[in-house]
Amino acid sequence: MQPSSLLKSAFLLSMLSQGALSASIHAGGVNLTMTYPDYGVPPLRPEWNKYLGTFKADHTPDIIQCLRSGEWGQTFDDGPGAPTNQLLDYLQQQNITVTFFIIGANAVAAPNTVKRAFDLGHQIAIHTWSHPHIPTLTEAGIVAELLWTAQVLTDIIGVTPVYMRPPYGEIDAKSRNVIRGLGFIPVIWSNDSSDWDDTVSVESVKSEVDRWASDTSRPPAIGLEHDLNDREAQLARYIIPKLMSGGYKLKPVAECLDDPLPYRRGLDPTAERVGRSAAIAPSSSSALPSTTSAAASISASGTTMPTATPAAQGVRVSSSTRTQVGLSLAFLVAGLAFLAQF
Ligand SMILES: [Zn+2]
Repeated sequence: MQPSSLLKSAFLLSMLSQGALSASIHAGGVNLTMTYPDYGVPPLRPEWNKYLGTFKADHTPDIIQCLRSGEWGQTFDDGPGAPTNQLLDYLQQQNITVTFFIIGANAVAAPNTVKRAFDLGHQIAIHTWSHPHIPTLTEAGIVAELLWTAQVLTDIIGVTPVYMRPPYGEIDAKSRNVIRGLGFIPVIWSNDSSDWDDTVSVESVKSEVDRWASDTSRPPAIGLEHDLNDREAQLARYIIPKLMSGGYKLKPVAECLDDPLPYRRGLDPTAERVGRSAAIAPSSSSALPSTTSAAASISASGTTMPTATPAAQGVRVSSSTRTQVGLSLAFLVAGLAFLAQF
């Protein structure tokens, strides 16, 4: 590498470390309209202060399953990740649509992938900005995690998702009041595939899925899967056809709840509820898979996974190996994108 390239790489490193991802990787496709925070619990935007202290007790039950037996709300959490674009191809081949609960910081790194998922008919939903344990946050922290994610997803797809999933399925009275008070609908799950859990063997995951698929009563369900790594992506190719052959209809969560309005026109909780057709199309090229965004999202997932102690459900903790690989790939891709400007 020539000295000038090294300088540029150093500059890129500096840009990335300052959270200026959007400047270097969004050539073509979706253009984000604002600068987004780094990974981590973000600060409130000043205009969101008005929500603090306004939240009332809300005892509405969280959603854990579809309405009818034989219906399976299919969900993928924590992306967009490296395998997401190929997963979208696979879902298209299978002719099914699902719900993606998206991490805001990962969406910043791979906006084209989020837009492509939306354009293919999948439900886009909120999974917070940085995958925190929500009950441990202040009210301001919860508001910021939700609204920054809502902001970037609105920026990408043109409408604001109403459905959300708390990371690890962790929700308490305080966080529920904030989530509901901001007009979001918390969705947990009934069936955890354990695709995320490296201590559960692939064979064990498959035998549990076999058990679900062979239950002829087919209880209404919402399944938990993820789209961050190869193990998860490969298991999706087992779980989905198995459930379908068992007689389940796989659907996005909003659809299996008979909700035709899973979005709204803007972040404010009083904004009009709308369906996907209300989206303003900010891009016409989003149907094409983007190598840049897929690689960049490795960076987001690799560098941004929580390091807290794993909880009982749904936890994501990256290995240092993945972090290093992700960083190397991200710098390579970002460096190429940067050099292409000269
Ligand atoms: Zn998660």
